[in-house]
Formats: sequence, structure tokens, C-alpha cells
Amino acid sequence: MTGTGSALAERLAQGTVLGAEGYVFELERRGYVKAGAYVPEAVLDFPDAVAELHREFLRAGAEVMVALTYYAHRGKLRQVGRESDLEAMNRQAVRLAREVAAEGGALVAGNVCNTWAYDPQDAATAGVVRKMYAEQLGWAADEGIDFVIAETNDYLGEALIGLEVSQELGLPAMVTLATTRPAKTFDGYDYVEACKILAGHGAAIVGLNCDRGPATMLPLIATIRDQVDCAVAAQPVPYRTDQASPTMESLRAEGVDRVFPLALEPFSCTRFEMADFAVAARDLGVSYVGICCGAGPHHVRAMAEALGRTVPASKYSPSMDLHPILGAAASSQDPGVLDAWNVTL
Ligand SMILES: [Zn+2]
Repeated sequence: MTGTGSALAERLAQGTVLGAEGYVFELERRGYVKAGAYVPEAVLDFPDAVAELHREFLRAGAEVMVALTYYAHRGKLRQVGRESDLEAMNRQAVRLAREVAAEGGALVAGNVCNTWAYDPQDAATAGVVRKMYAEQLGWAADEGIDFVIAETNDYLGEALIGLEVSQELGLPAMVTLATTRPAKTFDGYDYVEACKILAGHGAAIVGLNCDRGPATMLPLIATIRDQVDCAVAAQPVPYRTDQASPTMESLRAEGVDRVFPLALEPFSCTRFEMADFAVAARDLGVSYVGICCGAGPHHVRAMAEALGRTVPASKYSPSMDLHPILGAAASSQDPGVLDAWNVTL
């Protein structure tokens, strides 16, 4: 069923739900999204590229196809001169997600995010944000979604608007916070407190996404899991953040002017690290385990398999025993080759 909320509740009742996001980042790497603006123009300009990425995540085990409407709100489209494409882009994004979701029984999520238009000191901005969310989610509901993901919220106030608009449409919402500051939202709420407030207002799932890698998201998510009654989501970026640099935005490298967002590769998590994260999050009681900007299908498949699943892309999961040098047949090879691989200078 779509639009009634039962599909999400049913899926959560079955066990950990595996999500996959980071569409804008990955499509930028593939040459379909312009870094800087990060508006998902590819939805209209290269719909096959968007559908393909959906399909890759689906085959890797993602159970939710998230419509690529991140930054597809009126403010951003105006900025890139495509305001007239607003409705078409939002509707098409949901259609692409639905089309691929149907190939594998995945749920479909509508998506809204921080708008950069919200200012808690200026009451009028709440109305502007509400209007942008209402039109985006109205079109999404019309096309048919199972629930809403309102994400990367810097402000609790803005997150609550996303939740309210979802509720007005009769849609359950997963509402997640950005955590670029050490402990509090931009409007001064402790992250744990903000999640409790969102849960109290009826969010189906609360939690965190983006910005932090597994190492710096897990401790915070453990506290949130302890303190809220509803389902919890954790979708970190696959980057090696640490105490000194808790977010991908704060990562620094010698000789690199700015690591985020275009020079993050040296900090990438391996598939094994993301698999460990998936297990750790599940063991904490996180119901919606996922991954955000920087994600590749190889991460998602490793996470799915670590959760004990066999997914369509498992057909091509590694069989290192077949490797000519590292596998079982290696004994018949010249041992000198392996010796050369093991040399450290
Ligand atoms: Zn992200």
C-alpha cells in the first residue's frame, strides 16, 4: 500500500530496514550533477542515470528507493534558473523511484531536506519553508509514496515543519538531523533532546543522517536510541571521521585547500568498515540502518550481507578463493609473484 503508512510500519516490524542514499554525491561523481549547486537536474536531463543508481542500490539490498528530490525545492531551482521545472522534476523523481522499487519490492520515500531559507529569528521564513515542503510533498503524495524522509535538518524548527507537512498529507515521516556542530542543532537544541521532541510530535522514525562517519555517529545514535521510544535511523557518510574531525566537512589533509566536498576520497571507508557499522547499529537497536553521501553499491551490499542477507548483487560478491594469486590456485603459480606483492619498501 502507498500513502497509508502501513507499509513502513510493516517493514520495521520485520526487522532492520536497510537504506541507501547519497544520490547527489554519486551522480556528481558520474558527471550528472553540478557540485556547488547540487540540484538534481539529472532527474529530468538524465533520467536513465538516476534510475540506474536506484537499481544499483536496490540490487545491493536497499529496501527503500528515495525519490531524488533533495535540493529540488523552489529556492534551489530558482538559483539555477529552473524554477519552471519544479513540478516536473519532483513528479519525475518519484516516478523513477517507484518504477525501480517495483522491480524489487522496495518502499518508496518522498524526500525533503534543509532549505537554507529557515531562520528561527524571522517568523516569516517558517511560512516560506512550509510552502516549499507542501508543494514538493504534495506532488510526491500525488505520485504515490509510502513515507517521507525529511533529512539533514540543521534546525529542529525546520525539521518540525517537514514533519507537520507530512502529517497533514497523512504520511508517516522519518525525520533526521544533520550534526555538523558538536552537540546542538543550529537553533540550540541538544541533538538527543531534538530527537525526543520530534518523536513526541509523532515522527515514525527519528535519528541522524549525513555529515558524520560511522565512528562519530555511533556514540550519539546510541544515546538517542536510549532516550526515544520510536524507531531510530542512522545513515552516516562512509568517511573516516574522528574526534578531532567529527564531520566530513571538518576533515583536513595536508596540502589540500579544502577536503569537503570534492577531495574526500582518501578518507573513504571500505566496504568492511561499513559492514561493521551496519552490525554495530543493528546491535544498538537502530531500526533503519543506511548510508549517505559517498555511498557506493559495494558498501550497501556489504552492509546487507553483514546483516545476514543474500541480495541480487550477492551473485557477484567476492570469491577470493578464485583469485589467481591470492586464491586456492595460487600454489600452482610462481610464488615469486606473491612475494613481490608483499614487499614493503
Ligand atoms: Zn548525505
